[in-house]
Amino acid sequence: MPTPRLIILGSSSGKASAHRAGSSYLLDLGSHGVLIDCGDGATRNFLQAGYAPEWVDHILISHTHADHAAGLPYFMQQRYLSGTKNPLTIHCPGEAAGPLKAIFNFGYLFKDRLPFPIEYKPLIERWPLDLDGAQVTAYPTTHLAGLRAHAERLGLPNRGECFAMRVQVGDRVILYSADLGSLNDLDAIPTPIDWLLVETTHVPLERLWPWAESRRIRRIVLTHLADDFDFDVVAHARPTTAAEILIAEDGTALDVND
Ligand SMILES: [Zn+2]
Ligand SMILES: [Zn+2]
Repeated sequence: MPTPRLIILGSSSGKASAHRAGSSYLLDLGSHGVLIDCGDGATRNFLQAGYAPEWVDHILISHTHADHAAGLPYFMQQRYLSGTKNPLTIHCPGEAAGPLKAIFNFGYLFKDRLPFPIEYKPLIERWPLDLDGAQVTAYPTTHLAGLRAHAERLGLPNRGECFAMRVQVGDRVILYSADLGSLNDLDAIPTPIDWLLVETTHVPLERLWPWAESRRIRRIVLTHLADDFDFDVVAHARPTTAAEILIAEDGTALDVND
């Protein structure tokens, strides 16, 4: 089997960036691909990285903020236009399946016109998914928890769901934080962690370094970056953790086995 790779397709935060696409990552497992989040601009960077949309057979969506999910209808349209019969499974918060179907219908991607079967599976806390070469376990974060009561007051079905994902590929573990309420959202996720793909919008870096150090994390990839992100903060903080610190850039391919 070729070396599994993680390709950063979109490393922007919720603020639109002139240089980065919205949150999106591709796990290249050799025989097939798993797309993790699909923000605006993800499809273009996916093509630039040399992949075909029909090659992805699993999509994981952490939560439905636009910077993580707005690129999905466009990605689906490319899959439709390819004529592929390769089945697709979308793993998403349970609250998201209905709205996603409505968005696809909005774009005239009616289920019975798609050339491929599509299935929606709700992400369930700590329920491992076997994705043929990768085992993914979802852990809830509190990123949207404060808005659940607000949605209930409005009579909306939103339940404030957002999930971090622990992705095991062979003997390597990638932890994708998605968006966090606080760093403590990740406390329940077991070590070892080889790659921590962590968002920088809601996490103070001065807290992240000791947290990562206490868990002996080998590599930290800082992502979900706004254009005004202070890169000097990273340079000054490096001595407080032995982890290698990388700054996410769209198009970067990481060798998972490194
Ligand atoms: Zn976000
Ligand atoms: Zn978010």
